[in-house]
Amino acid sequence: MSVVERIKTFWKEKADLKTRMYYVIMVVGAAAILTSLIITIIQGYGAPAIITTAICLVFAVTLLVLSIWLHIEKIGRYIMAYFVNIIFMPLIFFACGGVESGMPVYYLLTLFIIGVLLEGKGRIIAYIICLIVLDTTIALNYLRPDLIVDMEFGKFVEDVFITLIIASATIIVIISMIVHAYDKERHRSEELLERLRDLSIKDELSGLYNRRELFRRLDTIYQNKSGDSIPASKQNCYVAMFDIDDFKKLNDTYGHIFGDQVLATVSAIMRNQMSEDNGELAARYGGEEFVCVLRAPDPEEAYHRVDKIRQEISAYEWKEVPDLIVTISGGITSCEGYEDANLVMHDADSLLYKAKKDGKNKIKGFDHI
Ligand code: GH3
Ligand code: MG
Ligand code: MG
Repeated sequence: MSVVERIKTFWKEKADLKTRMYYVIMVVGAAAILTSLIITIIQGYGAPAIITTAICLVFAVTLLVLSIWLHIEKIGRYIMAYFVNIIFMPLIFFACGGVESGMPVYYLLTLFIIGVLLEGKGRIIAYIICLIVLDTTIALNYLRPDLIVDMEFGKFVEDVFITLIIASATIIVIISMIVHAYDKERHRSEELLERLRDLSIKDELSGLYNRRELFRRLDTIYQNKSGDSIPASKQNCYVAMFDIDDFKKLNDTYGHIFGDQVLATVSAIMRNQMSEDNGELAARYGGEEFVCVLRAPDPEEAYHRVDKIRQEISAYEWKEVPDLIVTISGGITSCEGYEDANLVMHDADSLLYKAKKDGKNKIKGFDHI
């Protein structure tokens, strides 16, 4: 792997947000100090300013190289925050013009950097040190102005201008990184939440709703609570229960894996016949038992829709076993006329039992049809 590829992999897969922010701050910082050093030399800010800036540059570059080389980003974050606070800020403050230079902006930037890079007690201690250093140096600026190495007025303006550019660039990059990471994280947790919701209401093998979700929906219908923006009235609502015929024999003959495929295909046929937008659903009630909750204007249409499912399954051509005919039996009843979900399910089950007794591969219910 080339160096560029290794850096890319590290950046995308291994480095967490704090580590990435640390490197951005270090690289922007080192570039800014180098620029300052060049300007300090060209403009002739004086030996104290040049020496201080050069020391800062050596420190930043050394820490950056060691962090990359030894992977000591976490320690690096603390070393940087504390050294900058305790040593470099006061040094630069006195060497480069004090309170009238760009230093107050750097102080604010330091508070921001401590906030994003450190954590826990380490952050609190760094903030305390930072505020002590800030107050002490500013107090000394007024009490002992002789300690400050002065600059000409024009150079102060230049210094503040450069400082503002560096500070703005750092803040913009870091804030963008944080917002980007937050958006990515939110998207990921939304996806996970959706998947978790799916897992809690659906059956894995069939992809149909599970028994718990079936009863939750039926309860919603019987309590006439319009949940999930789905119609919840028991009027024009029907419950059909199905069971695959002779499924044990099918398993014994062709194996459980093929049995699972049959379950998945039968489930898909049922699901395709249900309209979720109209508050219909297909659920896996047990091993090879299913329940559909459907809506129709009258019992005849409800019965024909359910019988269509039966016909489609019996006409299905199984590529793996061309001679095979899989059939289902079912019972259908209207939700009206029952007081709760258990009662309607009980009657649908009795009708299914009747269909089995009556020779299988048929739907029972609404005797007049
Ligand atoms: P009937 O026509 O009376 O319904 O007979 P049957 O053989 O279908 O009924 P029975 O209840 O005796 O058998 C159901 C079988 O379904 C037994 C069980 O091994 C099988 N089964 C249950 N769940 C699964 C599953 O997830 N995968 C597979 N492959 N088989 C399953
Ligand atoms: Mg069966
Ligand atoms: Mg069964």
